[in-house]
Amino acid sequence: MRVVHNVAELRIAVKAMREQGLRIGFVPTMGFLHEGHASLIRQCKSRCGGTVVSIFVNPTQFGPSEDLSRYPQDLEADQSLCLKLDVSVLFLPDAAEMYPSNFQTFIEPGRVAEPLCGKYRPGHFRGVATVVAKLFNMVQPDLAFFGQKDLQQTAVIKRMVKDLNLPVDIAVVPTLREYDGLAMSSRNIYLTADERKRALSISLALFSAEAAFRAGERDTARLLDLAQECLWGVDVLQYCKLVDAQSLESLTGQVDRTAALCVAAYVGNTRLIDNIILNPNPEASGFLGLGPSV
Ligand code: AMP
Repeated sequence: MRVVHNVAELRIAVKAMREQGLRIGFVPTMGFLHEGHASLIRQCKSRCGGTVVSIFVNPTQFGPSEDLSRYPQDLEADQSLCLKLDVSVLFLPDAAEMYPSNFQTFIEPGRVAEPLCGKYRPGHFRGVATVVAKLFNMVQPDLAFFGQKDLQQTAVIKRMVKDLNLPVDIAVVPTLREYDGLAMSSRNIYLTADERKRALSISLALFSAEAAFRAGERDTARLLDLAQECLWGVDVLQYCKLVDAQSLESLTGQVDRTAALCVAAYVGNTRLIDNIILNPNPEASGFLGLGPSV
């Protein structure tokens, strides 16, 4: 594994892989890696000869009152995991490498960034889209991997790739969960034992609506009620919404297309998000298939 800290070194390492005829896969992360990240890296390895992982805690996607300064980090553990997973290139830029002085050009996502987290984290997806576009330009991957856990992020990035004709395919990897269902997240480390128990109500709410959906329930209001009834453990519920899985527009009436049930809530001081896909025609849709996005 080559560990590189700047764009010049990165380009040399990627060029060498290209010259060997390898397909380049890319997994962008903010570090403090867990099995969810490992699952993205494994998918990447299974589909690409060259695997680039980046770790960068991107300041432009954090609001002024968010947890940038206390975002968890453990570079040594991250490096060992990447080594174990046989990553080809680990890219560790610092903020000056990503945002040189006088930086002033941003990507402004459109409607897809407005609902859900966009409403509660103004500017977040502008920061995400900007850093991901920059990373795509630096790595120039054939295929990039993102987790379903950050569903709106995947929608924003797919939209950006289409709108700006970026030459990369996007693969979405299913959410990895703890043994009891809690979605894995670097932020789970913040939870106290009591909060960890209460956080479980988020995935239980999603599973409860999913079970009803599988049993034939298609009424959005009823599905939302079922989920909300289970959200006893959270301290502040930001949203619990049933949306079109592609456009993220709210659904009403009957679920007649692939939908996503999305939750964001605070448990203690920790903001957690999770979602589940509800697909009325599972055999017809490839929404989450690991293939390139459509
Ligand atoms: P982060 O380091 O939190 O920015 O996440 C980096 C990538 O890993 C993003 O594409 C996330 O969606 C993905 N990811 C985070 N948690 C999970 C999870 N539990 N399962 C699958 N992918 C995840």
